[in-house]
Amino acid sequence: MDSKSEIVERLRSSFRSGITISQEFRCVQLSNLRSMIQENEEDILNALHKDLCKPKFEAILSEIDIVINELHYTINNLQSWMKPEYVDKNLATKMDNCFVRREPLGVVLIIGTWNYPLQLLILPMIGAIAAGNCVVIKPSEVSAAACQLISELIPKYLSQDCYAVVCGGADETKALLQNRFDHIFFTGSQVVARSILQAASVHLTPVTLELGGKCPCLIYGNVTIGAVARRLVWAKFFNGGQSCAAPDYVLCSKATCDALIPALCETLKDFYGKDPQTSLDLCRIVSQQHWTRLTELLKESNGKVVVGGESDQQDKYIAPTVVCVAEDDALMKAEIFGPILPILTVESLEKAVDFVNHKEKPLALYIFSNETSVINTVMEKTSSGGFCSNDGIVHMTLPGLPFGGVGGSGWGSYHGRWGFETFSHRRACMMRGWALEKLNGLRYPPYTDNKLSWLRWTASPKTTCLLM
Ligand code: NAD
Repeated sequence: MDSKSEIVERLRSSFRSGITISQEFRCVQLSNLRSMIQENEEDILNALHKDLCKPKFEAILSEIDIVINELHYTINNLQSWMKPEYVDKNLATKMDNCFVRREPLGVVLIIGTWNYPLQLLILPMIGAIAAGNCVVIKPSEVSAAACQLISELIPKYLSQDCYAVVCGGADETKALLQNRFDHIFFTGSQVVARSILQAASVHLTPVTLELGGKCPCLIYGNVTIGAVARRLVWAKFFNGGQSCAAPDYVLCSKATCDALIPALCETLKDFYGKDPQTSLDLCRIVSQQHWTRLTELLKESNGKVVVGGESDQQDKYIAPTVVCVAEDDALMKAEIFGPILPILTVESLEKAVDFVNHKEKPLALYIFSNETSVINTVMEKTSSGGFCSNDGIVHMTLPGLPFGGVGGSGWGSYHGRWGFETFSHRRACMMRGWALEKLNGLRYPPYTDNKLSWLRWTASPKTTCLLM
């Protein structure tokens, strides 16, 4: 097997050859990627089932279709994204051609995680290929079946000179990071993000961080509680609660909480039956380590379990669980990333907003309300990577919306054009000819006040308006 530095060198020499530059090459690779997913759907579903017991329905929505849709969208829009973007000019640059050119960065590294093992590698990879880069992807070792399958499929469908898969855990990733990359795109935890940044700093490599945190879900004002419960339960327990943008906790008034709890119980029974462990529609926890982390968290909690709480280590099962908690509860300390939903009662909307604003900026923030003024207040007075009213996680599915965090929940974004932009350098180009040399004469010595005032006028925004 090639050593990691040999892989990076091979890709770098392909990049230098210019093979990835043409739109045609990029589109062929993207179409091949689409064939890879379509022709191997069954194997992909089996791998996801092996790793997470992912229901076929959820896997198709969140791993297969989201990737296929992104590929269609990117292939259809690539030509317009690659076009030079002409900018406003002033009198001093009237005769010039001034534009922004999107250029590939070079050899980029994409490090994925296990909860959506295909989506979280392939969606950024689509942006990187579309932008004309060579790409190394590093799947998570935790979702071992998906990792194995991806490492078999990618070389069969994509140019091996330009794209490579490196498998392994922390040690392999650290070894890989000793190489120089032109961009690192990391999805994972805040703890590991710090070591990624340290490694990147050696080569001054720019980094995109797709991290997590606690995504709040506020329920205030008038609400239709049955609909709230259905949308909330779906968003929270999709993928067994192992979604970075899943609602992590609920904030609502005591009265809303009293109405919400029976609605949640009823919805859980409707969705997963009397014994959710027998439901085929519920993911399992990815590993024994994460199962232990979550069950320990439940033990540490002083909250009141209102539904769920059961677990089975052998089956890596934890029932969809709802817990009423106090502000200092163990469940309110860090991101849960599992099927446990704490509810914290905070009487007023203002106090709930204040509560959110005293924490790290979340990856997503949700507000359920029938009142537009309540929704707008929450949107205007808070900050988060994404925002969605009256639903959860669905904002991630639209390629027109950038997906990413802010502050502690991440840096940078992707999906659709935003991924293409993340993996592109925006080169400022001014193509000057030889015209207007007399006008240029204004800037040459000997300097005079008269020349300066003319020069200031030609370069001022006023002259931009005159040219429109
Ligand atoms: P993790 O940080 O442990 O692992 C992520 C990747 O880093 C894996 O590929 C792993 O092999 C590698 N890695 C682990 N330790 C490393 C080290 N010391 N040095 C270098 N590389 C190392 O994350 P995780 O537990 O797999 O994922 C859970 C976290 O990811 C949660 O916080 C979740 O919110 C977040 N997440 C974010 C998004 C997003 O799009 N923003 C999506 C999914 C998950």
